[in-house]
Amino acid sequence: MSFLLALLGGLIGILVAVGIVFLIIYSKIKRTVGDVQMGELKSVISTASNLQKEEYSRVKNVKGLTSLLEQDIRRDFPEFSKEVIFALSEKCIRKILNCIESRDIFKIKDDTDYIYIEPKIQEHIEDMKSNDINEKFDNIEFNRSAIRAYTKDGGRATIKISTSLGYFYQTNQKDKKYYSDVKKQTRYTTEFVYVYDESKFDKHQISYSVHCKNCGAPIQNLGNSYCTYCGTPVERINLKAWKITSCEEDYNI
Ligand SMILES: [Zn+2]
Repeated sequence: MSFLLALLGGLIGILVAVGIVFLIIYSKIKRTVGDVQMGELKSVISTASNLQKEEYSRVKNVKGLTSLLEQDIRRDFPEFSKEVIFALSEKCIRKILNCIESRDIFKIKDDTDYIYIEPKIQEHIEDMKSNDINEKFDNIEFNRSAIRAYTKDGGRATIKISTSLGYFYQTNQKDKKYYSDVKKQTRYTTEFVYVYDESKFDKHQISYSVHCKNCGAPIQNLGNSYCTYCGTPVERINLKAWKITSCEEDYNI
């Protein structure tokens, strides 16, 4: 009992001491800067937090060289249309955010447009579950997109798209700042791959880790109709289409 009392006394003592130190610092600052400037100091602090809120809701620019890169892509893919790939980028971002919010990959599971990215999203969701993380993305609205990069080698072509969008964001992560009453404006980078030559692409396929649904073995050749390990029929996947391989937020508040 006396130990508890002593502990309590000690705690109160510490609290009082901390309070006195704060008072001394506050009155010192006040004496040094004066009443008027003290008011200004407070308004500077509140302006800074207003600016942060403004920046949070300011529509973000996209990073890209659309017209230049579009010409390069058209040289290799004459039917390529930037409108189509921009719409695809928006559709993919929306579906992936839905999956993250519901912590369920139902939206992209069994959709062959997502074969390259599905394992990554699955892993991310498992991570969220084990750390008890929740994220919400409400009223998603897209502003604009741009082509950010284009490369072609090793049997595949790769396009990076920069997309600007807004949504009402909420999370239970302590280190992530959000305002539930203000729409967050942000930017994402998505990456799409088109395999134009499967024979050249072989050596890169494992890195995308597409696995057999029966035995889990990596599918060596996505054009195969059987798993080379267990013989389970594997749906032939049309690789001659732009398929998403990565989707990352490209903005931090
Ligand atoms: Zn198998």
